[in-house]
Amino acid sequence: MNALEARFSSIKSSIVASTMAAKRLPDSVTLVAVSKQQPALAIEALAALGQRDFAENYVQEALVKQAQLAHTPRAAKIIWHFIGPIQSNKTRAIAANFSWVHSVDRPKIAERLSEQRPDNLPPLKIFIEVNVDDESTKAGVSPAELPAMVALCQRLPRIELVGLMVIPARGSPDAFTRTAQLNAHLPSALPLLSMGMSDDFPAAIAAGSTHVRIGTALFGARQMKAES
Ligand SMILES: *Cc1c(COP(=O)(O)O)cnc(C)c1O
Repeated sequence: MNALEARFSSIKSSIVASTMAAKRLPDSVTLVAVSKQQPALAIEALAALGQRDFAENYVQEALVKQAQLAHTPRAAKIIWHFIGPIQSNKTRAIAANFSWVHSVDRPKIAERLSEQRPDNLPPLKIFIEVNVDDESTKAGVSPAELPAMVALCQRLPRIELVGLMVIPARGSPDAFTRTAQLNAHLPSALPLLSMGMSDDFPAAIAAGSTHVRIGTALFGARQMKAES
């Protein structure tokens, strides 16, 4: 077993152990492999081990890798998630080249993604990123603005709102439970929660996460320079 295979298998076991500890079904949590700043070869290697969901943070970097992988037998099976900050001038490329977007953080972005989602593809699945600690420096919809943002997303025809996403502030271990509670208090709770990264996914699963976004613990340290 090589290092990647060993890490993959160990993460999958911890996900199963965390779901069992929370009295949840093992398949109620999806592992999203965060491949930002990792080469296409690493994605190909993990896809060959059976991983299907991959997430990227930078549009240009993702498009290059998608093109590099286009000829590989596993590529057609990959489900691409976008999880990075979204500038308005990138929404068209995101709407056309990803199936899921976890980082929708303002009305204008939701509107543009819906308008620009190509007609031949199913509606784009989106999570609303919440700024659960209401920090002024952070992206995300504040708890007060959330009900209006949910209502807007549910009216837009070419996106499908599936849940909430959170990146907790440092030293805010209860952010996962508070995000789950925010969801539970919506007029009708959304089915999915994108919460948890390499260092904190067991706590996120205990709080109800359905999508854990794991990079370093799976691939090791990031290898490429970040896009500026
Ligand atoms: C980079 C990133 C991750 C993965 O982080 P790791 O600590 O490497 O697991 C998850 N979510 C988002 C939004 C990220 O930007």
